[in-house]
Amino acid sequence: MFPSILKASLLGKAQKKGLVEICLHDLRDYATDKHRQVDDVPYGGGAGMVLKTEPVVKALEDVAQERGKIRRIFFTPQGRLLTATLAREWASYDQLILLCGRYEGVDERVMDSIDEEVSIGDYILSGGELAVMIFIDVVSRFCPGVVGDARSVEEETFENGLLKAPQYTRPESFRDVGVPSVLLSGHHEHIKKWQRQQSLERTLRKRPDLLEKAELTDEERRYIRSLQLNQ
Ligand code: SAM
Repeated sequence: MFPSILKASLLGKAQKKGLVEICLHDLRDYATDKHRQVDDVPYGGGAGMVLKTEPVVKALEDVAQERGKIRRIFFTPQGRLLTATLAREWASYDQLILLCGRYEGVDERVMDSIDEEVSIGDYILSGGELAVMIFIDVVSRFCPGVVGDARSVEEETFENGLLKAPQYTRPESFRDVGVPSVLLSGHHEHIKKWQRQQSLERTLRKRPDLLEKAELTDEERRYIRSLQLNQ
């Protein structure tokens, strides 16, 4: 599942430039029986299969031994929710092991070898691979040099706790709908003020929960109150 995503676009370029290195390890290589079995039926009964302790712990230990100090993350719907703030934090680690679950998950004893559990949302995927690929994409964006223009990352939605202001490109008019005139004015201060107000207005309308944690000036709080009064 991994190569097509990892080779494409920004991630592909980041690896070619040596900014990010991604190594894939197959848990079956750590199985000890001739069928290379990595799963088994759950004790106590229940649906599905469970990833066995030995191959998973052996894989974690081997990679850690080969790579040195490394943070081990397991992907599970029961983990800490992946957010932009946490992604920035994870990007500061030199090395991470990202362990994908499958079937019904892993034997609980594997957790003794895990530093952190991460979820990408309150829903169930069939396996951890997609979660890990999302994680790699999101976290890599915070690694220096991966996104060509660092401002792209800094100005992104969530970066200041708000949603990003609407954006426009050519043509200036499409089916009689024009671009807001302030964006054509060339007046940087006015543009900045308009974008900030649009961010506040959008966040209030689409994600009011974010406003509780956003760092706002007194004037911005008053602006939001005036918007609420007019709603
Ligand atoms: N039985 C598990 C439970 O109820 O918590 C769910 C198992 S799920 C079908 C199989 C694997 O997909 C999990 O072990 C995990 O690695 C991955 N997975 C599923 N949903 C996920 C999510 N929201 N975030 C991260 N990983 C997820």
